[in-house]
Amino acid sequence: DMSQMKRIVAVHAEDLDVVVEAGVTRKELNEHLRDQGLMFPIDPGADASIGGMAATRASGTNAVRYGTMKDNVLALKAVMADGSIIQTSTRARKTSAGYDLTRLLVGSEGTLGIITEVTLKLHGIPEAIAAGVCPFPSIKAACDTAIMTIQTGIPVARIELLDEVMIKGFNLHSKLGLPETPMLFVEFHGTEAWVKEQSERFGEIAADHGGGPFDWATKAEDRTRLWEARHNGYWAGRALRPGADTLATDVCVPISQLADCVEETKRDIEASGLIAPIAGHVGDGNFHTQPLLDLSDPEEVARVQGFIDRLVKRALAMGGTCTGEHGVGQKKIKYLELEHGAGAMAVMRTIKRALDPQNILNPGKIVVM
Ligand SMILES: Cc1cc2nc3c(=O)[nH]c(=O)nc-3n(C[C@H](O)[C@H](O)[C@H](O)COP(=O)(O)OP(=O)(O)OC[C@H]3O[C@@H](n4cnc5c(N)ncnc54)[C@H](O)[C@@H]3O)c2cc1C
Repeated sequence: DMSQMKRIVAVHAEDLDVVVEAGVTRKELNEHLRDQGLMFPIDPGADASIGGMAATRASGTNAVRYGTMKDNVLALKAVMADGSIIQTSTRARKTSAGYDLTRLLVGSEGTLGIITEVTLKLHGIPEAIAAGVCPFPSIKAACDTAIMTIQTGIPVARIELLDEVMIKGFNLHSKLGLPETPMLFVEFHGTEAWVKEQSERFGEIAADHGGGPFDWATKAEDRTRLWEARHNGYWAGRALRPGADTLATDVCVPISQLADCVEETKRDIEASGLIAPIAGHVGDGNFHTQPLLDLSDPEEVARVQGFIDRLVKRALAMGGTCTGEHGVGQKKIKYLELEHGAGAMAVMRTIKRALDPQNILNPGKIVVM
């Protein structure tokens, strides 16, 4: 339990990095940094601990611009299974000194060591931020706009796909009053002139795909309302079938495959007779769905599991991954060999055995010993 490890050990504003103990949450960190004009941008929605975010290789809405925890952790301090304490790297921005133990531990879900301290990259708070919503006539038009936006190099900070089912949930939960059609929520960071130019370019691409009007707002309160609704997506999804349970899942595909993967998944949801809103950090080719079900009904559970199984295999067949950010835990262990092959899985097991020979660190997660 890292929840009492709350010290912000050192802010190096001139180097744009910070050293924190693992129990500091991302909101606490950003609160601490704000007065210095700095921010830590990784935003998985939940106010997770920095140690937990490193352990799960979290990302979220801002990853398309700022990367994931993999890109933003410079170094870690960790307690290993034998009780030794290691520091994986320094504050240097790059290094070619030996094996990359930082990246070995980031995303290891607590199976290789317990992270106690994290050195993170920081970013300046942008001078101007513009965010907006853009409706589309179809899910394909919205996906194609996201793909074209990325392919033409427009540096969006966030580009989130919400299908019409998810928008209905937002309207029920957050009273947004949006038309129930597929939407992209987007955000740009930069100078006033820069965000205006990028927003206009995005609006043109959307219009070319039959989307729009692109309604953009630079006022902080309008943006807050929008992203609060997005971050409450889990609860908005559940509002679509009050009292039901949910099995949330995510996959990630190369950006050129996004439209096909989302469209095929929507067809599958319909054919399976499920209510399953789709929301995605689509700038990275990552999307989530949240089938609603009654966990006490074996037939419904089997139907949802069949749907998730097809979703994962569809993403893998398109060159993607079984999870872009939710992680493996226990439920996705069965897909790892399909994704990585037997050889790579043998290497993972060798690493686990070497670092945790007694299998005391989160046994049963990621690799089965
Ligand atoms: C509503 C909601 C929305 C979310 N949306 C997103 C999203 O958009 N993108 C995204 O990437 N993620 C998302 N997440 C997942 C989120 O990123 C993770 O739940 C979070 O980063 C885990 O941090 P935690 O502090 O909650 O860790 P916990 O839930 O406490 O732990 C998570 C795992 O990490 C291990 N762990 C925790 N701390 C350490 C440590 N110090 N050292 C070693 N292992 C450790 C635990 O053993 C456990 O296996 C969402 C979660 C919620 C609840």
